[in-house]
Amino acid sequence: METILFLAHTELDGSLGKPAREALAAAKALALNLAEAKLAAGLVGGQVQPAADSIARSGAARFLGVAGADFSQSRYASDAAAIEALCKASQATLIIAPATSRWNRVAAGAAQRLGGGVDTHIAGIAVAGGVVWVNRWYYRQRLEAVLQRAQRPWFIVVDPGNHAPYEGAAGAAPVELIPVNLPESCKRTSVAGTRQPAGDAQTIRPGAALLFVAGAGWTKKQADGQLHVKEAEKLILDCLRLTRASLGSSKSLVDLGSEGQAVLGFLTHLNQIGQTGSTPRHPKGLAACCHGEEPHTVGWRFINERRAINLDPNCGWARGKADVLYVADAFAVMAKVNELMAAEPLKAPLQGHGLLQQGQVGEILGTADEFLAAADARQREHRHLEAEPLNSPRAFELVAEAVQAVHVVEEVHQ
Ligand SMILES: Cc1cc2nc3c(=O)[nH]c(=O)nc-3n(C[C@H](O)[C@H](O)[C@H](O)COP(=O)(O)OP(=O)(O)OC[C@H]3O[C@@H](n4cnc5c(N)ncnc54)[C@H](O)[C@@H]3O)c2cc1C
Repeated sequence: METILFLAHTELDGSLGKPAREALAAAKALALNLAEAKLAAGLVGGQVQPAADSIARSGAARFLGVAGADFSQSRYASDAAAIEALCKASQATLIIAPATSRWNRVAAGAAQRLGGGVDTHIAGIAVAGGVVWVNRWYYRQRLEAVLQRAQRPWFIVVDPGNHAPYEGAAGAAPVELIPVNLPESCKRTSVAGTRQPAGDAQTIRPGAALLFVAGAGWTKKQADGQLHVKEAEKLILDCLRLTRASLGSSKSLVDLGSEGQAVLGFLTHLNQIGQTGSTPRHPKGLAACCHGEEPHTVGWRFINERRAINLDPNCGWARGKADVLYVADAFAVMAKVNELMAAEPLKAPLQGHGLLQQGQVGEILGTADEFLAAADARQREHRHLEAEPLNSPRAFELVAEAVQAVHVVEEVHQ
């Protein structure tokens, strides 16, 4: 008989974050599908009672907690001690935990202490023939494996986004507080604070409606025989600022930096899309100055609508890799797209948006810059509204209009 422990850390206000509620949904479903399984909840944090109350009706038979100031922040030594204590107190055999950065850091260490096993990046959990199976992807989502383990306890660390988060009525949960005496040696690390980049500094936005991919062409000599890297930087950043698109790159472009060539300063290897890069899942993608070679476009497998701007009518995009290829100068097209974007009434893309509905932004419509500065501040303030204030695929749509204004344009529809 398995004892399933839903293992989560609380947020600073004592609540449970979305990844934790997703892991709880997975743990609850597993308990229902596994004969005679018992479900318990193990919570770690500065305070755990609000979190326990919020999941009081989740079906957990026990609520165990390790609470106190020593456990409010992410720290390997105190988190490992808390997890060890919760697993021992609950006698858990299966531990379902969310893949937050805090738990990712400590799950393997805690499993090792308990003589157990761990699997991370789990995308699904199922029961077949009375056996628990987990799914995870390998080799950049090209291979999916289905695994089982005899070793117990077994830590199953669930990636966010794979389960609908648990939503249930709150109640009063009796929490059994488990004492953990931390020696001074476990308190050597203290968290001084949290720093996060400003909204504009972050160019990788998994939730964005549009992926904008820059290729090495932005840094190559143009028709006048000159480099225009600074101009390229401005065009790309303006596009990102106006659309809140996510920024992808070809490998050639991110590699240029290490080869001592002129590069776009805000790009890193994390932006790289492709065989040796990432495989994002935005609904639309727009590539500019990127050749569209197979090792790059393989990273576009999950992008449904694709357009590309390239001077070369024989580039890879023309060979069935994009729905529409605009044979045009990307500098001219993107300058026009940005001009059209900036001139658009900002209200339009916001229609139906949560912020507007709640009357949060109605009064601040001004110039694009004023609006975005205020929207960023409000976005930070109203994170619970989730969607970004301006997250629109408009650049994608406006390219067709922009190319009309640009010389030497050919449109190739696949
Ligand atoms: C094992 C292996 C793994 C790889 N993995 C990856 C990967 O993960 N991701 C990846 O991206 N690549 C990968 N590559 C490299 C890949 O094959 C290509 O070399 C790379 O994608 C080319 O990048 P690019 O299109 O930006 O540059 P280029 O090939 O230099 O193309 C630049 C393009 O810009 C266009 N251009 C120039 N100026 C303009 C302008 N003004 N307007 C419009 N267009 C313009 C040119 O016509 C040209 O098509 C891999 C290669 C190998 C061998």
